[in-house]
Amino acid sequence: MKKIIIGDRITKSFGEREEQRNVLDELSIEINEGEFVAIMGASGSGKSTLMFALSGMDEVNSGKVVFGDRDLSAMGENELSDIRRTKMGFVFQQPIMLKNLNIIDNIILPMMRDNRKNVASISDKARALMKRVGIGELEEHDITQVSGGQLQRAGICRALINNPKIIFGDEPTGALNSKSAQEIMNIFSEINEEGTTVLLVTHDAKVAARTERVMFMRDGKIVSELKLSKYDGTNMDTRIEKVTRKMI
Ligand code: ADP
Ligand code: MG
Repeated sequence: MKKIIIGDRITKSFGEREEQRNVLDELSIEINEGEFVAIMGASGSGKSTLMFALSGMDEVNSGKVVFGDRDLSAMGENELSDIRRTKMGFVFQQPIMLKNLNIIDNIILPMMRDNRKNVASISDKARALMKRVGIGELEEHDITQVSGGQLQRAGICRALINNPKIIFGDEPTGALNSKSAQEIMNIFSEINEEGTTVLLVTHDAKVAARTERVMFMRDGKIVSELKLSKYDGTNMDTRIEKVTRKMI
């Protein structure tokens, strides 16, 4: 299996003091290309810090992070931001969007830096993505005019506009009701079926149960792992039960 990301004994702490505890504590992790995985853990266990480290958004103190065949820990900020912009997509609990731009302009924003001349084709792509995730009619809407679920769909479109190799989601359903959350998870499943690696960070067993492998974090370490099959729409209760049992 080809690896898309390898974290090798990564350590991360914040602040200068030596007695500061490690938020990531010699943590090692491997993600396969095309995988759909979740990292679970209680609040404060280091999930977001891990996601930031694996995506090169934040430097590690020791160990290394390899993306494809590139060592992110050895790269400068320009190179890192190129990789993030062209190969990675990010979805957060709530999408950070510019209030003075409408939905479609927020979605195409990340592409504008490299492609000022291709606005028409980028806009077409954004429209196709919006239609696909069920917000086709909202392109001209102001971001304050739509629901949380719709805004999150727009956030996913923005994350997909570059055709990323991997999508990182940090509690992507954390601000949504359970129906919207399920619908967002359906979208992640579809994206993954089409070949994109999806890595979600969550404390929700229902979210983790939709993925094919769940890693459990505690105090900056991955303490256990649960392998599931790809979700085929059946046996959700059993999957949730498996995740929950492993959590405790
Ligand atoms: P999780 O996402 O699992 O809730 P985080 O990765 O956000 O956990 O945080 C793990 C620990 O690291 C927490 O104790 C948090 O206070 C600390 N931490 C995270 N980011 C910072 C930061 N920028 N500065 C100082 N401490 C931080
Ligand atoms: Mg977090």
